[in-house]
Amino acid sequence: MEDIEKNCKIFIDYCSNYVKFVQSMSVAALAPHRAVVEHLVRQAVYARLNKPLPRIARGLNPLIVNVSARHCHLTPETVETLFGKGHQLTVHKWLYQEGQFAAKETVTLIGPRSRVISNLRILGPCRNLNQVELAYTDSISLGFDIPLRASGDIKGTPGAMLMGPAGFFKMPDGVIRALRHAHLSPADADFYGVKHGDWMKLKIGGDCGVTLDKMLCRVDKSFKLEVHIDTDEGNACNLQPETPVELVK
Ligand SMILES: [Zn+2]
Repeated sequence: MEDIEKNCKIFIDYCSNYVKFVQSMSVAALAPHRAVVEHLVRQAVYARLNKPLPRIARGLNPLIVNVSARHCHLTPETVETLFGKGHQLTVHKWLYQEGQFAAKETVTLIGPRSRVISNLRILGPCRNLNQVELAYTDSISLGFDIPLRASGDIKGTPGAMLMGPAGFFKMPDGVIRALRHAHLSPADADFYGVKHGDWMKLKIGGDCGVTLDKMLCRVDKSFKLEVHIDTDEGNACNLQPETPVELVK
């Protein structure tokens, strides 16, 4: 069994490097995440050898864990205030969840005592509320005390000033540290035996391995299986594309 895994890993490394090479030749191609390649290769190799799949490869879909750097979500009105009348966000990079993107546009966040974070990325498309998601390291350096909240739950949270090329916007509230969470389709939720609002754990391997409890399950038919953690969590365990990860109930 160990030999199979060793050969799988060599082949996965090869495929991932090939995908990166192809992507470097064409800006249009979006490279699949290494976990997607890994999942496909493992399933194919074990099926070909007629061997039972190891537990980590048995999932319906590959498990993608992505680190969300600090960012904000804005309403169309706020985008116009910051960037000018009629301005629409432009795509910088498509994200793994269908239709979601990192915009080319960034804003400057001005916190208490005029400390700033420049180049705060806006994620699109626009939403019906303004929300800034920071890691605790960011909020400490800004001098903020921010609460841990699920995305969208911003009642009673602190605000901030945003600055864009065309103007300022004073957010009355909406600065949070987002709760780590897993996006699951209903089929993924069935596979793991969880429902919307449940908690799961994410086991992260490697030299700085750690298990993250309190991973909020968000189930929607538009979702692809993906875990979102922030930069504090990702850096704490040195999460890399090849780091083994497992989602458990
Ligand atoms: Zn998310």
